[in-house]
Amino acid sequence: MTIDAETKVCGLIGYPVGHSVSPVIHNNLAEHYGQNLVYVPLPAAPGKLGEALAGADAFDFLGMNVTVPYKSEVIPYLKGIDPLAKRIGAVNTLVRTEGGYKGYNTDMPGLYRAMCGDGVGIEGENVLILGAGGVARAVAILAARYGAARIVILNRTLEKAQKVAEEVNRTFGPGLAQALGAGAYASLLPGEEKFLAIQATNVGMFPRTEEAVIEDPGLYRKIHTGYDLIFNPPETRFMTLVRENGGRAFNGLKMLLYQGIIAHELWTGASVDEALAEKAFTEMKRAMHLE
Ligand code: NAP
Repeated sequence: MTIDAETKVCGLIGYPVGHSVSPVIHNNLAEHYGQNLVYVPLPAAPGKLGEALAGADAFDFLGMNVTVPYKSEVIPYLKGIDPLAKRIGAVNTLVRTEGGYKGYNTDMPGLYRAMCGDGVGIEGENVLILGAGGVARAVAILAARYGAARIVILNRTLEKAQKVAEEVNRTFGPGLAQALGAGAYASLLPGEEKFLAIQATNVGMFPRTEEAVIEDPGLYRKIHTGYDLIFNPPETRFMTLVRENGGRAFNGLKMLLYQGIIAHELWTGASVDEALAEKAFTEMKRAMHLE
């Protein structure tokens, strides 16, 4: 591409950001559409977020993604915030508007789009969420919003699971969500019901790839479909356990892809079809040495 005075700039604010695959996703989409747009990593050292955003604003950057550790910290700097991002309490995409940036969360719509593509629905499901961190909380809200029949939040620290469950029940109706400490999973084993499980802890992430939060095959026999939001490694111990016990298993790569695609759509107004999404997915995996 030719970079000139008209080139629109997008980028990823976080710290560190050197390992990110987002430039591959966005620069490939821009090339496909012939957009005069470039996407670059924008490392903002601790304490520099405000200055970084003011600089982006001054240079008229079109949009940004926001990653660890700034997904919540960025909110006070925004001109506006999308209702879903506000409810989740985390912003991963900034869109240029008159007078400042508006914040969105495309992680959850990204997961939802990945699930739709995999033929996995949420409505009427018993949803089991492993973890109660930032992403697990957002997944609980997603599950409630799309009509889960029951939501169980299982976490090492029970108090955090309770906080998420209380919030879901306050917003979507009492009794929908239930919190369990990790050791209490045995209470899920009796009965016929099966779960759509979403693994939203860090356990099993590279380099500790041999680990899963729970090893008991009894729990995995209760899971008909398991999503691990981890994408490195692409096959986690959790996924192996789900498959070994008869379920379908997916990793977090498609969520990563679609959060980027939805951000790109917000910035440019493009509507990325499935053929292009598949092409971007191949490029993304190639860049991650997974192809
Ligand atoms: P977070 O807020 O730090 O939460 C981490 C969660 O993992 C907590 O529930 C924590 O339990 C649990 N945990 C950590 N170590 C544990 C251990 N040794 N044993 C049991 N539980 C443990 O992290 P997050 O931002 O929510 O991210 C969670 C996961 O989502 C990460 O694996 C991340 O890679 C993934 N993710 C994927 C995508 C994607 O696009 N695919 C996007 C964002 C995040 P406690 O509460 O007890 O500490």
